[in-house]
Amino acid sequence: MQTSYAPGRVELLGNHTDYNEGVVLSAAIDRGVTLSGERTGSSRVTLCSTTLESTFEASTASLAPNKEHEWANYLLGVLDVFQKAGLPVGGFSAEIKSDLPLGAGLSSSAALEVSTAMLLQKLFGLSLDRLTIAKLCRRAENEFVGVNCGLLDQVSSAFGKAGHAIFLDCRNETVETTPFPDGVELLITQCGVPHRLSGGEYNERRLQCFDAAARLGAKALRDVTSAQLEAAKAMLPTLSYKRAAHVVGENERVLQGIEFLRNGNVRAFGALMFASHESSRHNFENSTPELDALVEIARDLPGVLGSRLTGGGFGGATVTLLERDKAHAVAETLVAKYREQTGHVAHAHLCEIADGAH
Ligand code: ADP
Ligand code: MG
Repeated sequence: MQTSYAPGRVELLGNHTDYNEGVVLSAAIDRGVTLSGERTGSSRVTLCSTTLESTFEASTASLAPNKEHEWANYLLGVLDVFQKAGLPVGGFSAEIKSDLPLGAGLSSSAALEVSTAMLLQKLFGLSLDRLTIAKLCRRAENEFVGVNCGLLDQVSSAFGKAGHAIFLDCRNETVETTPFPDGVELLITQCGVPHRLSGGEYNERRLQCFDAAARLGAKALRDVTSAQLEAAKAMLPTLSYKRAAHVVGENERVLQGIEFLRNGNVRAFGALMFASHESSRHNFENSTPELDALVEIARDLPGVLGSRLTGGGFGGATVTLLERDKAHAVAETLVAKYREQTGHVAHAHLCEIADGAH
């Protein structure tokens, strides 16, 4: 019997930068997906999710996405792309255990994929590098599961390092890690309100970004500096300007953020997180009153360094960087005040910045 583990992740800076070929900072968290399994010695694949109390069987000879057991597609998809890459894999069993909430924006899907890849490596004696694993797992999610995600989730799960931020350049597909000073922790707070909008906003924002880049004569917003954007402001429709200002600002904040971390200036890093949220609220309009309330309440609590919405927005969660010795007090007060102000029940997860898959 072999085991593998891969963590979830949270985006720290670089909101909606991925499809604009930009840069992003994330961190792996101390929650994830554990698999245990062995070779079946045949073409048989036996999968079991303890989380969902569900089992599924398949054959390596006829892998196809399954509608009734969608969860199994994340594992079968990884097996499928490994086979298509010509890697010597075969039938296996796997039991899933997880302490990551599903569909909460902490990327349980990528953790499940990367954990599957790690298990296959062990069972079949492979030694792929982490970037190759991340790319194969993204391909599994894109092509087999049918979700059009970028590379961030899989890279974060594969490259996570305790106490370090992970930098991903989405155009060049390069990855680096940079340490945080000791004594900080993350608080991920789900706002407890279902996404109110239809879901079309995400695509609408994408198109608005592509349109703004075209108006600026750039291949992607990645190629625009804030100085160029300000110089072009008068000729841009206000909406294009605001959308571009968010993405251009986020790319610049990611690069500044790394510099601040290199200099050990975690307060300045936190200030960038607040600035990122303000830009989401004003420029990109992907915040909600609930996410704004969480950030505003956090801002006034002792020990909080920075706070912002994380992920797509329009609901979901905020991420707060805070001093470890005040973390429990902040989490309690934040949830209580948020309930007082909005009537909603938030779910707070205190997380360490943790190691990636192993
Ligand atoms: P997120 O990645 O933000 O958690 P997704 O919708 O991308 O949300 O992925 C969630 C899906 O991943 C679940 O619906 C399920 O199919 C699969 N999944 C994640 N964790 C598990 C688990 N422990 N057991 C079975 N399936 C899981
Ligand atoms: Mg996911």
